[in-house]
Amino acid sequence: MTLIDGKATARAVRAELKAETERFEAQTGKKVGLAVVLVGNDPASQIYVKNKIKGCEETGIRSFAHYLPEHATQKQVLSLVEGLAADENVHGILVQLPLPRGLDEGEILKAIPPEKDVDGFHAENVGALALGERGTVACTPLGVLELLKRYRIPLAGKHAVVVGRSRIVGRPMALLLLNEDATVTVCHSKTADLKEQCRRADVLIAAVGKPRLITKDMVKEGAVVIDVGMNRTEDGLCGDVDFENVAEKASYLTPVPGGVGPMTIAMLLKNTVACARRSCK
Ligand code: NAP
Repeated sequence: MTLIDGKATARAVRAELKAETERFEAQTGKKVGLAVVLVGNDPASQIYVKNKIKGCEETGIRSFAHYLPEHATQKQVLSLVEGLAADENVHGILVQLPLPRGLDEGEILKAIPPEKDVDGFHAENVGALALGERGTVACTPLGVLELLKRYRIPLAGKHAVVVGRSRIVGRPMALLLLNEDATVTVCHSKTADLKEQCRRADVLIAAVGKPRLITKDMVKEGAVVIDVGMNRTEDGLCGDVDFENVAEKASYLTPVPGGVGPMTIAMLLKNTVACARRSCK
């Protein structure tokens, strides 16, 4: 079994991006810029934002961090995002989710223009993905695809099973795999025969949020298994896959932590650089 090393892969991506941001600066005289908006005091969100800003520093991206209080109004958040949308030093805007209760997330995300939507959540970008066209793709599924490509795992003609259909992981993941010519099955909480569906997978992606849901008997011998899950349990962080036992059957497997997680931020930075590049065309 080959362990897929997300940390090392993310490091390689960041090194490539650093070279790319230096080229961008040399060619345009501008720095690539990412604005990060955090509303409230959610501790997990604070850590995510800190890591995103650190990622910017490491890759030569200028970050603009904006912190709003827990009780910020819809109008305050909207006017901040609209200002960033108009700022030509800002190539990407990220509003950290979840927003505090009382704020209309949909309206705020819509205020991010598609060309600065580094999270790939805007309907125009989701539409482009669904149509198999170029656009910005959500960071976590994009990170999974990057891992599969860098480990030279073939996808065309393979049967990929995605467990989970959320807007930020499962759905865009299924579309990405379809665009790579995989035959794709999407499973969710109402799927009647999850085990049977999973057992057919050459490539199995678990994005559910249920510790160790995917057990050895659900995995085909030699399957590639990607674990997106990040579950905090009494024993620490664990994925959606029963790692120790599935490792006996899988040909490739991602660990948690150290698998998909590090790739998510790397893809955010990659999307930011791509948005900056497109803004100059
Ligand atoms: P989510 O919005 O809660 O979606 C979970 C999906 O799993 C839903 O589509 C749900 O089906 C499905 N599901 C729930 N129970 C199921 C079951 N017993 N059998 C089959 N499907 C089931 O979660 P998410 O945002 O996609 O995140 C999924 C996991 O990935 C979480 O652990 C999250 O922490 C992790 N994550 C990791 C990263 C990273 O960077 N590594 C990024 C994002 C998320 P229904 O649609 O029918 O409800």
